[in-house]
Amino acid sequence: MARMVIAGNWKMNGLTETLAEAEGVMAGLEAAHDNADCVICPPATLVLAMANRARGSRLKVGGQTCHPAESGAHTGDISAEMLADAGASHVILGHSERRADHGESDESVAARVEAALRAGLVPIICVGETLYERDGGHTLDIIAGQLAGSLPDSLNGQDFILAYEPVWAIGTGRTPTLEQIGEVHLAIRERLSQRFGETGQSAPILYGGSMKPGNAGEILGVSEVNGGLIGGASLKAADFLAIYEAAG
Ligand code: PEP
Repeated sequence: MARMVIAGNWKMNGLTETLAEAEGVMAGLEAAHDNADCVICPPATLVLAMANRARGSRLKVGGQTCHPAESGAHTGDISAEMLADAGASHVILGHSERRADHGESDESVAARVEAALRAGLVPIICVGETLYERDGGHTLDIIAGQLAGSLPDSLNGQDFILAYEPVWAIGTGRTPTLEQIGEVHLAIRERLSQRFGETGQSAPILYGGSMKPGNAGEILGVSEVNGGLIGGASLKAADFLAIYEAAG
């Protein structure tokens, strides 16, 4: 059985003062259940400061992407080793905004996953279909293709997290039906188990896309949903903690 994970993706939001929200989450976790891991992935500028403040708390800190290489002439990029050095334990890879805005292909995501493993980070690997693909009835094929291309064989025996994020549900307030979520999560679990055996059975599969305190309970109750990747609702400690509580 996979352990529950509630992960926040702050995207390009947050200044030093916003760390107060992360501190609110740390304080809330003290009194909360212990049935889930809790991660926040702030922008790169805040990883070090958040990790320093989170030391000794139950909050883990992650990056939002990393370059495949360890170092070198890649202006503006950040390596997995740099994230680990700053105190990160996780890194989101293959988010649909990175795939769309920065042309990250499945192959490039797989190379970044290798980099994360090399640096000892837990990759949170995102897959998801567009509305066009869903309306065309291609969701499961698209997901299967992304899993085949974005997950390197070296994940076998390693800790990793999968996030199913329908592109059309991200930041839109729209969510798939519980049946649609369950169908995709079951298909992902089958693929992971076939390919990675026990590792694939225990990897948490998160749902992401307009998860909020009001819908978290029912989504987290769907079979093979082992947590959430939360964007907008992770920016306020009270909302994020309410979602965390729903995972208890
Ligand atoms: C995300 O970007 O990973 C996400 C799920 O965003 P939101 O919760 O805002 O839809």
